[in-house]
Amino acid sequence: MALIKCNECGKDVSEKAESCPNCGAPVEVKAKSFRLSKSEKKGGCISSFIKLIGIGLLCMFIYVMFIADSGNKMGGIVSSDFTVKVTGTSGLEFSGAYMATTPTGKSTSKSVDGVVPAQYKITANIVSVNFQKKTEGGILKVQIIRGGKVVAESETSAEYGVASVATH
Ligand SMILES: [Zn+2]
Repeated sequence: MALIKCNECGKDVSEKAESCPNCGAPVEVKAKSFRLSKSEKKGGCISSFIKLIGIGLLCMFIYVMFIADSGNKMGGIVSSDFTVKVTGTSGLEFSGAYMATTPTGKSTSKSVDGVVPAQYKITANIVSVNFQKKTEGGILKVQIIRGGKVVAESETSAEYGVASVATH
């Protein structure tokens, strides 16, 4: 049983009382307004419930983002599948090397002699690429892609220019 303050004397009165036992003032009006504020509180509960869901979704979103990015953030633990994509001037010749570092810290370098467009699949923790144009003209563009997203890219149009990219 809730208590409300009497309109007239300010004493505590049962909300179910018809009138104040102290001064006799009717408490009906105030009781009604009390009920109204009670239902307003209910609305407040609903909106805070929605807020709670919102916070929950936000936490899930951050969690998913973290998991999706963990291959990068937890460097030294997780390996990812990378694609090194070479584009630019079609038919342009290039050479160089890419280096793949495994979660254990072991690095392996692979020499490459290629023609644009080219693509290399690498499973590693860290990938670094150094490709150089064999010609004066043309554009050489190197992208490192993970999960369909370009994580690093470099482009050169310089004479015998070098495109150098790394995931870290
Ligand atoms: Zn009273």
